[in-house]
Amino acid sequence: MTYYTPPPRDPKASPVRINLLSDTQTRPTSGMREAIARAEVGDEQIGDDPTVNLLCERVADLLGKEAAVFLPSGTMCNVTATLVHCRPGDEILAHESAHIIAREGGAHAALGGFQITPLNGPDGQFSPATLRAALHPRSRYQPPQTVVSVEQTANIGGGTIWKKADLDEVVRIAKSNGMATHMDGARLLNACVATGISARDMAAGWDSAWIDFSKGLGAPVGAAIAGSRDFIDEVWRWKQRLGGSMRQAGICAAACVYALDHHVDRLAEDHANARALARGLSQIQGVEVQQPETNLVFFKPDGAGISGDDMVRGLRQRGVLLAMMDGRIRACTHLDVSAGMIEETVGLVREIVRGV
Ligand SMILES: *Cc1c(COP(=O)(O)O)cnc(C)c1O
Repeated sequence: MTYYTPPPRDPKASPVRINLLSDTQTRPTSGMREAIARAEVGDEQIGDDPTVNLLCERVADLLGKEAAVFLPSGTMCNVTATLVHCRPGDEILAHESAHIIAREGGAHAALGGFQITPLNGPDGQFSPATLRAALHPRSRYQPPQTVVSVEQTANIGGGTIWKKADLDEVVRIAKSNGMATHMDGARLLNACVATGISARDMAAGWDSAWIDFSKGLGAPVGAAIAGSRDFIDEVWRWKQRLGGSMRQAGICAAACVYALDHHVDRLAEDHANARALARGLSQIQGVEVQQPETNLVFFKPDGAGISGDDMVRGLRQRGVLLAMMDGRIRACTHLDVSAGMIEETVGLVREIVRGV
C-alpha cells in the first residue's frame, strides 16, 4: 500500500497560497499566540504546571474519563496506550488503513512486540461482523487478542464517522471477549461537531480515547489521552520512559485550552468547505470524488488522461499544496482554508483537466 507520497519539493515552485495538505498545517492564530504568551507555567513532569493540569481536567471531563495526560503527539497517545493495554506477543485488531499500522514507524512492534491484525471493510471501518469473525478462542497456539482499536474519524477511509451504534457493538464484542478498547480520536471532535453527538458519548465504553490538538483544533503541539486513573498512571510511566515528560509545557497546553474554547464549533466551517470542494469537483468531468463526512476530501482523476501525481504537481505549480494518499489525492480543510480558496481550487482542477 502506498500510503503517502510527500508533495514535490521544488525550490523554484511558486509559494503555497492554498494549503490543503493537512489540518496539521495550521499556524497559531493571534488569539492563540496571546494565550500562549499569558500562560501560567510550572514543571509539568512533577505535576506542577497549572495550565497542563487544567487541560488534562478539561480533556478528562470532555471524554467522560477519570483522568487524562498531555503528550507531545497523537502517535505517542497510540503508542503509550497499546504499551499499557498489551504484553509482548499480544494481538491488536484494527482496520487495515489504521494509523497504528501504517504511520507510526512500526512502533507497536518495535517497542511493544505486538502484532496488529488488519481488518478490512469500506471507508476505513470494519463491521462488527468482521470483528466477530476475526476473534479466536484463547489457546496456547494463538496470540492473546487484547485490544480493539478504531479511528474516529477514519482518516484514510475518507474522514468517515463511525456510527454510534457500531461503536457500541464493537465495545460489546470486545468486552465479552475480555479485550480492551482504544479510540484513536485524532479527529474525534470533527465527528462530534458533524453529528451533534458529544465526545463523552462517542467515547463511552472505550477504555482509552484521545484527541489531537495539532490537527483541526489548530494548536502547534500536543494531544491528550484519557482513561481510568490506573490506566493514566501507567501511561505516565511510559511517557517518562519514552522521554515524553516535559517541563514548562503550559506554553503548549495554553494553545490547546484556547483551541477547546475557540476552535471546536468552527470545525463545522471546515466541513462546509469540504462539502463545497467535493460538490465543485464532482461537477468536473474526469474527476471522481468521495462524498466527505467531515474535513477530508479524497478524489482522483478518472478518465481524464492524467495521473493523480500529475494533478498534484499541476496544482502545486499553481500554488495549491496537497498530496497523494493511498492512491488518491487527499484535500484537508482547516482553519487556514477559506471558502474562496475552495472555489479557486475547484477552478484550478478544472483548468488542469481541460488542459490535458
Ligand atoms: C495524525 C493522526 C495520528 C497521529 O497524530 P500525531 O499528532 O501526528 O502524532 C494518529 N491517528 C490518526 C487517525 C491521525 O490522523
